[in-house]
Amino acid sequence: RATIIMSIIILSDIHSNLEAFQAVLKDFSRERVDQVLCLGDVVGYAADPDQCIETLHGLTSDVVAGNHDWAVAGLADTSCFNPEARAAVEWTAGIITADHSAYLKGLPLTLCLPGMLLVHATPCQPESWDYIFSLDDAAMSFHHFDQQVCLTGHSHYPIVFAQDTEGTISVIWDSTFTLLESHRYLINVGSVGQPRDGDPRAAYVIYKPEEASFTLRRVSYDIKRTQRKIVAAGLPTFLAARLAEGR
Ligand code: ZN
Repeated sequence: RATIIMSIIILSDIHSNLEAFQAVLKDFSRERVDQVLCLGDVVGYAADPDQCIETLHGLTSDVVAGNHDWAVAGLADTSCFNPEARAAVEWTAGIITADHSAYLKGLPLTLCLPGMLLVHATPCQPESWDYIFSLDDAAMSFHHFDQQVCLTGHSHYPIVFAQDTEGTISVIWDSTFTLLESHRYLINVGSVGQPRDGDPRAAYVIYKPEEASFTLRRVSYDIKRTQRKIVAAGLPTFLAARLAEGR
């Protein structure tokens, strides 16, 4: 009899892209899902904020706040947002239900799970919404969590930093890797709804605790449909165009 391995699904940066979100749901429907984690930015950019919040709320309560969630809820100002992002925040804040606005407002900045810290941007100062791109950024972040693993999103760029016992940090580019007990990890799971690593397919991660394995999955979805909705909603057309490029 085959053993059924449990999976933890890790999502980030859905950004109101319902088609990408649904494609990801379908992709992991064959797994025995034990838990779903979400690293924030449920809304912003695309045209289905209410549907995405509703769907996520039905899946999990393990969700941290992203900068777009906070901006839409009125908790963060949009002065450091680019004009397109700001327009999407204002559009979203104007159409979501009061319940969903309260839901976004109630999201925590971090969540601690056994062996894992969840945060949208950085473990150092979550509410500054800084980015982790370089080895130096990663080195700084490793000082600010005690768990073996810190899971992040925010850059929309999937990448894994591993730190050995000497403190040396390396990047793991493989789409599947196994956690070593001797190492600590800073894992960016990429973006479901607006990838920026040149691959337009939705990104998410399947973690199998029994095997200590992480797998980055990429899933095609109906990008044209999402683009049509963005344009029809009157959102900036740049937000539609970039989805096809994955940039
Ligand atoms: Zn984001």
